[in-house]
Amino acid sequence: MNLPDDFVFSQTSLQDYVDCPRRFELRYVLRQRWPAPEVDDMLEFEARMEKGDQFHHLVHQHLAGIAAEKLLASSGDADVRRWFEMYLETGLEDVPEPRRPETTITVPLGEAMVLAKFDLLAVEPGGRALIVDWKTSERLPSAERLAKRLQTIVYRYVLAAGGDAFYGGQPIPPERIEMIYWYADHEGTTRRFPYDARQFAADAAYLEGLANEIATRPAFPLTPDVTRCRFCPYRSLCDRGVQAGRLEEWDDDEDEIDLTTFTLDIDQIAEIEY
Ligand code: SF4
Repeated sequence: MNLPDDFVFSQTSLQDYVDCPRRFELRYVLRQRWPAPEVDDMLEFEARMEKGDQFHHLVHQHLAGIAAEKLLASSGDADVRRWFEMYLETGLEDVPEPRRPETTITVPLGEAMVLAKFDLLAVEPGGRALIVDWKTSERLPSAERLAKRLQTIVYRYVLAAGGDAFYGGQPIPPERIEMIYWYADHEGTTRRFPYDARQFAADAAYLEGLANEIATRPAFPLTPDVTRCRFCPYRSLCDRGVQAGRLEEWDDDEDEIDLTTFTLDIDQIAEIEY
């Protein structure tokens, strides 16, 4: 077994594994810290992340019942205000009640568990079950690309496998589930992903296969796709270059980046030779 007993998979860790087994090993098995920046302009990068966090926080507060006017008045950033106004205009269109922001569900996966933390879960008793994910990225990814992302696969799977508590104690039929990405910086454009029993079965087989492979594989090779290394903080450790990728080229639909494992450690920078 390569993983700690209490390990819980997420879409981020599974995406890391699919992108590069070695990155998964360094980050989650060895818990290796390596303070290289992901992009060349870390200040701008962190500012973007911070704005995204502010927007998510405003939406959460609004869904918790705080008046929109009060929240707008509290926000000083022009982009965040613009996104929040767009959310007020279209973000909740056709989203049923009850609406539960920041909801987490965890289900078994192989010998471990997998969790999904939904920005918004809206499940009508006996009716539709919507997962809404707020995005503040500058780029608008294609539906084809999003369909392959582990977030789309994991979120719908976890809700179908473990959403009983929100559906009168019964499993939610996959056909009632839909995942929606809503893009604040693109006038509320959505990318929608319905679900069905066939896809649920295929996702179960795929995710269990990944979990078993991770648990039993003897080694975690470096990805052969060196383009994945440009924005990876381990690139100097792997001898895959020292220069961070350009922020303008960063695939910012990956705005779920887990900054808790990417925290730039200023003290360590001076100690490590690139
Ligand atoms: S630098 Fe490249 S090979 Fe090394 S962990 Fe990152 S993505 Fe994988």
